[in-house]
Amino acid sequence: MFSLILLLSAYSESVFARALTDWPEPILKSLKGVRDNPRQVLDQILPPNNTKTAIDEAGQHFVASRAYSSLILHNKALEQAEQGLALLEHDQQPWLFHYLQLAQAEALKGLGRAREAELQVAQAIRWARHNDSAELLAYALSVAGYMNLTLSETDKALGRFQEGYRLAQDNALRLSPADFSGMIALVYEYRDEPALAIPYFEEAQAYYEKHQRRLELANTMFGLGRSYLKLNKQQVGLELLVKSARLAVNIKDIQGAAYSYQQISEVLIERGNLDEAGSYLVDALRLFEEAKNPYQQIGVLLAQARIGLIEGAAPLALERIEAAQLLADGDAFLPHKVQISKLKAEVFAALGEYREAYQLILTMLADERRLQQEQNSQRLIKLKTAFETEQQRSQNALLQEQNLRQKAELESERKQRGYTAIVVTLLAVICLLLMWQHQISKRHQRKYETLANKDGLTGLLTRRKTLEDVGQQLNLAHRHNEYMTLALLDLDHFKHINDTWGHQAGDDILRGFSALANKSFRGTDILGRIGGEEFLFAFPHTSIDDAVKLLNRFREIVKDVPARIGREDITLSVSIGLVSGDESEDTAQLMNLADEALYVAKAAGRDCIRVYQQAVARTS
Ligand code: GH3
Ligand code: MG
Ligand code: MG
Repeated sequence: MFSLILLLSAYSESVFARALTDWPEPILKSLKGVRDNPRQVLDQILPPNNTKTAIDEAGQHFVASRAYSSLILHNKALEQAEQGLALLEHDQQPWLFHYLQLAQAEALKGLGRAREAELQVAQAIRWARHNDSAELLAYALSVAGYMNLTLSETDKALGRFQEGYRLAQDNALRLSPADFSGMIALVYEYRDEPALAIPYFEEAQAYYEKHQRRLELANTMFGLGRSYLKLNKQQVGLELLVKSARLAVNIKDIQGAAYSYQQISEVLIERGNLDEAGSYLVDALRLFEEAKNPYQQIGVLLAQARIGLIEGAAPLALERIEAAQLLADGDAFLPHKVQISKLKAEVFAALGEYREAYQLILTMLADERRLQQEQNSQRLIKLKTAFETEQQRSQNALLQEQNLRQKAELESERKQRGYTAIVVTLLAVICLLLMWQHQISKRHQRKYETLANKDGLTGLLTRRKTLEDVGQQLNLAHRHNEYMTLALLDLDHFKHINDTWGHQAGDDILRGFSALANKSFRGTDILGRIGGEEFLFAFPHTSIDDAVKLLNRFREIVKDVPARIGREDITLSVSIGLVSGDESEDTAQLMNLADEALYVAKAAGRDCIRVYQQAVARTS
């Protein structure tokens, strides 16, 4: 399993080196060089040249990160990716930023910290999708798939690689469909479904053969060979492994060759061909030592120990096992430690040292339990992460909903304000209309009042209004001890005028008489028509004597009224009864008194004034 993971990273290096766009030409060249000789590339580009642009410098860190990854120096690869990222602002060079984040993710994956890189890989995928960057998307999908694979999430890995496959089919990308075929085959191989893996490996093999891509071809033949072996097709499998090893040696792919040797030796051990197996293992061990790959060294050492055990060379086996034990230092080697203890127990059992063997079995079981626990806690972390992601998502949804609600509230507030403005405007308009209507009705009222207070024929005050006004003035006169005089006027022989010259002539006379009265007296005097040809005039601030003078003058000019209205044939005169306001505070009472005086005037032959006195006697 560990060898497979390392194989994955070795396989991925070769493919990713070509997955770039937007890089300056020298960077692209260095990236290609990473495959053939990463050491040499590192010597050329480190330390990064500071005089260059940020893109060039960040690009060099990217290349260095890739080179260290292919040398399985994941710590250094991580350091380089992080240095590159430190030079960049995401918004300035997002594509570059994401390439470096993907390199960082690969380094973390190599360090067994794939979980930490999930977010940035997802971000790179999202950015690439949004920006239609097929090249970056293909690269990100491959990284994501490999990450899923190291986390045993094979369904997800398959999904990523299959999407990459379609993407590479639709676009001419640096990653070809065959590259993704190879990746898909790796997933099936990992899932122990060799029959499914084989057609995909073969598609990749055909492509790499055609395009002379020797490193990828070597890796693919290695995978294909292993798949055949698993299907018990040993001959075909072995042939493929040998071809792969030969090719790896040709292109100086040290670890590639070592993996093949190790696999070949396993088949040979199974076949009982121990000598030949042993010599392959010697080569494999040397190459893994050279590549500083402790995981695979342990694997080889244990295979050598197993041969020793089969051959009955227990001390040799023990020596190999102890060498492996020295390398398996730290928790990362827990699965190896289990294997070591198991094999060592077998050796001790073979030596008849059962107590030791038993002790080792106990150690092995304890380690196995720890491994189980670790896997469980990893599973727990995975669940927890999934839970937290879900929680974050629902929190985001909540925030989004709150945002929407706030927006809706603002909108409705805005609408409300709009409505309020409309309502206020309408109210103002209604108020103006009401005020206008009020003005009109007031004007109408005044008009009606005027109409009600004015006599229709003569324009003088009506009887009702005359009595009302006289009452008020009388009140004031009494209160302030002022003069006031009331005069009752009655046209003489008016019936005769009507009878002789017609009613119309009578009306004309009444109008002419009234007009004359209006002209003759002051505005403050009260002039009213209280009956057919009867009038009540009141003169505030006027004594009886002054009133007599005024009215005599008026009486004289009344005679001219017919002439004024063009009826010279008619003669007109008026009889007047006068009373002083002092006589009574009551208007009706005063009117009666004035009427008495008028009666006296009529009796005296008309066309004269009589003043009411206790004994009505005086004449004008
Ligand atoms: P006297 O001198 O005694 O007052 O005689 P007179 O004819 O004026 O007396 P009387 O009061 O009996 O008659 C009043 C007449 O006035 C009767 C009526 O025909 C007339 N008259 C009353 N009102 C009007 C009116 O509005 N228009 C006209 N044309 N005539 C009216
Ligand atoms: Mg009369
Ligand atoms: Mg009369």
